Amino acid sequence: MIQIPDESILLAPGALHLSLYDMVHRQKGNCLNIQIFSVETYIRTLLPQAGPSEIETLYACQAALRALPETNSFSASRADLDFLKACLRFLKLAALYGIERFPETTRKERDLNEVLTLLGPVPLGVPTRADLEAIDVPYTKIFILPTEWTFEQSYWIDFLLAHGARLLENETKSEPPVYLSCANARKQMEIVADRILERRLPATDVFVALADPGDQEVLAQIFDAHRIPYTLLRQPQTTTVPDRFLAGLRYLRQPDKETYLALIQALYPEESAPVVRYLNHFDGIELDAIPYEDNALISERRYLTWQQEELDAKAWMESHRALQAWTRHDVEALAAEIQATIPEPTEEDLNAFDTIVQNYASIASQIETGDDFSLFIQFLERASFAQTAQSLSGVLVGTRQEISPLRPTTFFLGAHAKVFPALSMYSGIFDESFLAHTTFPPLKERLNKQRQAIFSTLGACAELTIIVPQSDYAGKSLEASAELESWVAKRPTFVNIPDVFATTVPGFDLDPGQAQSLFFKNGRHTTTFSKVSTFEQCPLRYYLRYGLALNRPKTQDDIRVDGSLLSRVLQRARTLRNATFAELTRDQIRSLVAEEFAFAKKIFPSRTAAFDSLIVEYGARIHDLISTLEIFEDRLHLALLNKEYELDQGFGWKDVSVEMKGPIEKYDPMKVSFLVVDPALEEAGIFDDKGGLGVFDLSLKQHAVPQSAFKVNYRTTQPDAIEMSETQKNDEVSLQRFVDGWAVQDLPPAAQDPLLEKVLKKVPTYTEKEEKMQSKVEQALERLAQGDILPVHEKSACVYCPYKIICRNGASTKEKGERA
Ligand code: SF4
Repeated sequence: MIQIPDESILLAPGALHLSLYDMVHRQKGNCLNIQIFSVETYIRTLLPQAGPSEIETLYACQAALRALPETNSFSASRADLDFLKACLRFLKLAALYGIERFPETTRKERDLNEVLTLLGPVPLGVPTRADLEAIDVPYTKIFILPTEWTFEQSYWIDFLLAHGARLLENETKSEPPVYLSCANARKQMEIVADRILERRLPATDVFVALADPGDQEVLAQIFDAHRIPYTLLRQPQTTTVPDRFLAGLRYLRQPDKETYLALIQALYPEESAPVVRYLNHFDGIELDAIPYEDNALISERRYLTWQQEELDAKAWMESHRALQAWTRHDVEALAAEIQATIPEPTEEDLNAFDTIVQNYASIASQIETGDDFSLFIQFLERASFAQTAQSLSGVLVGTRQEISPLRPTTFFLGAHAKVFPALSMYSGIFDESFLAHTTFPPLKERLNKQRQAIFSTLGACAELTIIVPQSDYAGKSLEASAELESWVAKRPTFVNIPDVFATTVPGFDLDPGQAQSLFFKNGRHTTTFSKVSTFEQCPLRYYLRYGLALNRPKTQDDIRVDGSLLSRVLQRARTLRNATFAELTRDQIRSLVAEEFAFAKKIFPSRTAAFDSLIVEYGARIHDLISTLEIFEDRLHLALLNKEYELDQGFGWKDVSVEMKGPIEKYDPMKVSFLVVDPALEEAGIFDDKGGLGVFDLSLKQHAVPQSAFKVNYRTTQPDAIEMSETQKNDEVSLQRFVDGWAVQDLPPAAQDPLLEKVLKKVPTYTEKEEKMQSKVEQALERLAQGDILPVHEKSACVYCPYKIICRNGASTKEKGERA
């Protein structure tokens, strides 16, 4: 237990101030006459004048480096925040340690020297040892909480201790640390929860330090599940104020379409969505003035939606016209708009707003052009606006840097070899090899100091339990830290506790009444090929899509080539100058395809080049496909009617009347069905589009096949090779395409032909397909009636599933051959 001395000044990391106040209050009944600071803040308060803010100093450095010659290898980095910060940090160290001479052996060192010389006159606002020695400091009242300090902090702590300050000693004798290991990172947290509950530890006596701060969310989940109260010392950042400022400043720096879109998305995330869609797709195009033209790519309904969106977007932009007139002088207007768009700000919002406005005010006079915002933008991008805890309750959760003797029981989690001790060294431009040539304390001395600070902090904890995982969340093994083992002087003891949540999986059952009302309303059920495929992919997805009718996000904005292009081109090709398919040239087909793309080119002019290449591609593919039809026309003397096979059939299942509708197969843009019709009837203008002679499927599979160049005859005494003519080769290709591409269905015996026999046996008939689909529908209905919607899914079904964000924990992959 730490005893807080009366009338003292306590120095501790900022995140622990609230805990310290809590302790002071418990010991003294009030916090009068006790002051609590972080080391840096206390040192700064001792000086008569407040130094410049960090951003002011950075702007001053940037201005000083304008004189850097282009020949200097760092001239391109003079406006880079990381570079300026590295220089600033080094200059502050140099001021503390009195380093006056810098190395000059290599080109890099000489260039750096030039940079440092230019930065020399910039006021750093860093107090020095001499500054403090010149004033009266109440050293004997200063008490320092032992924690793991950074190298810069330990400079001042050593100074204060040397002048009479003292450490806040833990009067309770420390017990030897408990060192445990467990299977994985999550288990460590389970162990902590289990120990707290099993030993009935008061939550307010416990501190949990995470070696990896990323584990904070997992720990919070486990504490929530066990109902253990806790406080995160570092709260996750939730304010959107910095992002709003950043979007605004980027727009003020460079007002263009991209930054405007980012600005309206940041300021008005919901109402700007249609505007962003409109500007992304149709900026500069007056859809209102372009009438719809019938085409294969964009339906009239979709076009009307876009025209309506255009009207809405223009009305919105008109009502927010002021944004488009903003210039670099309008930071105040931006701040006012941010205030207006957050009508009920949280404390975190207010703090972030205040910090940003204050920082901006300190450099506002330096902003003369839009580019001058760049450094401030970088500064905000890197800044953290996460708050420390505003109130305390239960277990305190922090990091290794907050381990202290403040609470009697400490758990230290995740200290495996990769993250412990992880002593810090200088890297980047002013790295250890640069520092080694200065009078800065040697690396070995600094590492020893850090090691000593870490282990003396751990040693000061009254009761310390260290837990290390043997593998990470991905199952990759983690090594124990050799330094930790040698400090504890033993190997960790493996602990396993059962995971109480392992057997808790969400339920996926519907009661029969629900199933009845969702899927068999009024004794009817309508199904399609796509619905049955969805059930086979994943029953839960089927339930969400067709039971709860949760719509998938719609991609209204883009256009895509679907089967209607092929279908329309074929229909128009047939009537083109009354030509047969075989007579149509590649150019004629290409111009038919181009006509289908003409409207899309008109409303998406920026995509003309992409459309042109699609026209060439589809023109060639459709021509190749059409040329196969010659066999029908010339050799089989049949006429073709482009018509897709559609299901329209009903059957009874139990007491339910089931209807199957729509296409019978998966969508394929390069597949087309034809009805074979009697040419005599067609000539007479009679089209029996219900039956015809049969239905053919044609799909184009483009792949290279070997082609014979010679016919070799081995029957003669002297083997003979005869070169194939171009016509022979083309005939063979067409025949091969016919055999590979065509699948004939339902052909009546009267239309038999040796060529057709070659393709007749290849695929199931439509009747067989219908029977198969009916049996799948019956299986699905059986399971739906039982309320079975378990997410047992096809292997890759989840990858593109629109419901994956709401589908958790229960998914399991279907085994090969397993029923859906
Ligand atoms: S994410 Fe996977 S398991 Fe969940 S509904 Fe989609 S397909 Fe089914």
